[in-house]
Amino acid sequence: MEQTLKAEGHPKGLYLLFATEMWERFSYYGMRAVLVLFLTKAMLMDKAFASKFYGGYTSLIYLTPLIGGYISDRYWGNRRSILVGGILMAVGQFILFAAGSAYGTPLGQGLLYLGLGGMIIGNGFFKPNISSMVGTLYTSTDKRRDAAYTIFYMGINLGSFIGNTITSLIGDTGRPEDFRWAFLACGIAMVLGTGLFQWGKNKYLHTPEGEQVGNTPISSPGVKGVFAILPVMLALALGFLWLDTTTLPVIMPLLILSALGIAALILLDKSLTAGDRQRVYVIFTVAFFVVFFWAAFEQAPASLTFFADEQMDRTIFNYTLPASIFQNLNAFFIVTCAPLMALLWTALGKRGQEPPSPMKMAIGLALLALGYLVMCFGVNDLQPGVKVSMFFLVGLYFLHSIGELCLSPIGLSLVNKLAPLKFSSLLMAVWFLANAAANYLAGFMSSLYPEAGKPAPQLFGYEITDLYSFFMVFVFAGAVASLILFLVNRKLVKMMNAPA
Ligand code: GLN
Repeated sequence: MEQTLKAEGHPKGLYLLFATEMWERFSYYGMRAVLVLFLTKAMLMDKAFASKFYGGYTSLIYLTPLIGGYISDRYWGNRRSILVGGILMAVGQFILFAAGSAYGTPLGQGLLYLGLGGMIIGNGFFKPNISSMVGTLYTSTDKRRDAAYTIFYMGINLGSFIGNTITSLIGDTGRPEDFRWAFLACGIAMVLGTGLFQWGKNKYLHTPEGEQVGNTPISSPGVKGVFAILPVMLALALGFLWLDTTTLPVIMPLLILSALGIAALILLDKSLTAGDRQRVYVIFTVAFFVVFFWAAFEQAPASLTFFADEQMDRTIFNYTLPASIFQNLNAFFIVTCAPLMALLWTALGKRGQEPPSPMKMAIGLALLALGYLVMCFGVNDLQPGVKVSMFFLVGLYFLHSIGELCLSPIGLSLVNKLAPLKFSSLLMAVWFLANAAANYLAGFMSSLYPEAGKPAPQLFGYEITDLYSFFMVFVFAGAVASLILFLVNRKLVKMMNAPA
C-alpha cells in the first residue's frame, strides 16, 4: 500500500472507476445510514423488526452479486452490467423517495419493498463488476495493481463519508417527512455515477495496449433474453425479504446451502492438486472468521445508531448532531488511517516482522472486541435518564476502522492470491456469501437490543438485561474468534504454502 502514496501514472480509467464507485457508495451508505431510523420513526416498525429488516436487506445485497457476476461473465460483460445495475439502483432510490413521501400508508409500505428490491438487484450487477474492472486496466504482472485497489478503497470510503454526511443532515432531522430527501439525494448520486461511467467508458476503459475492456464476451450466447431474469430476481428477493421478516427465516438456510453447494463443487473437482485443496480450505476458514467480524461491525447502522439516537449526548457547541452521522466516522478513519497502516506494515516488513495474513485478521477481530469493551465502560452502571458521552462511540469507531484495515483488504487479497485460477470467481462468491451471512446476523443481533419496559431478550440462555450485557456479547464473540484464529495461524500459514 505504500505504493499508493508514491504511485504515479495510474491509467485514467482508474479514476473513472474511482468516481463512479464513489457516487455509488454515496448512494448505498448514505441510504443505509438513515434506513433504520426511517423504518422506526416514519414507518413505525419496532426496533426488533426494523433490525431484522435491515439484516435481511443487506444480506440480500451481498447475495445478488453471485448472480450479477455470473451473468456478466457469460452474457453481458462488465459495462452493460454496471449500466443496468446503476439504473436499477437509481430507480430504487427514487421509489424510496416516493415511499418516504407516502410514509404511514399501505402505498408507502409497498413502495419501500419495491425500492429496496431495486437496490438489491441493481447492486448485484453493479458492485462485483465495478470491482473486477479495476484489475482489467492492468496486466496481470503489473505491480501497480494492489495500489490501484487501495486507491479504489479510498473512493469507496470517500463516497460513504460524503453520502452519509449529507443524508444525515438533510434526512435525519427529527421530522419523519424529511427522510425522503436523503433518498432523493442518493438517487441523484446514482444518476451522476452512472452518467459519468457512460460518458467516460469508451474513452478511458482499456488495457495498457489500448484494447477496450468490459464489453460483451465474444462467447456470449445473447444479451436481450437475460433481461427476463430481472423481474424473476426481483420477485424472489422481495419474497425472501418478506417471508424472512414476517413468517419463516429462509435467508440463512439459503446462504448456508449456497456455501455448501459451492464447497462441494470445488472440492469434488478432480483436477485440483492436494496443495490447491489446502488453500481452498484456508479460504473457507478465513471466510468463517470474517462472518464474526462483520456481524459485530455492521451494528453501526442498526443498534449503534439506536444507541446514538437515544442514549448518547450528541450536543457539541450547542448543536445536536444527528444520530446517524456518527457512522461516517468509519469512512473518515479509513481514509485518514489507511496510509499510516500501510506504512506500519511496510516498516514491519522491512524488519522481517510483518504478521502473516491470518494473524493480521486475528488482530482485526481483537480490535473489534476492544471497541465494544470501550462501549461497555461507557454504559456500565448507567443511571436512567443519563446520557453517555460520545467519546465512547468515537473510540469504538476508531478501533473498528483500524480493525477493518487489518482484516478487509487483507482478506480480499488473500482470497485472490490463494484461489486456484479455475475457481477464482466462485471463491470470490464465498467471500460475498460470508458478508451476506454476517449482515444477516448483524440484523438478528441488533434485534436483541434491550429496551426499557420490554422483556429482556435471550441469546442461548444468556439474558440481555441492559446495554452492558448487550455490548458484552460482541466483546466475547470477537475475543473468542480472535483467540482461535491466533491459535490456528501457524497451521493456516503452512496450508497456504503447501506445495502444489
Ligand atoms: N466498505 C467496503 C465496501 O463497501 C467493504 C465492505 C464489506 O466487505 N463488507 O466495499
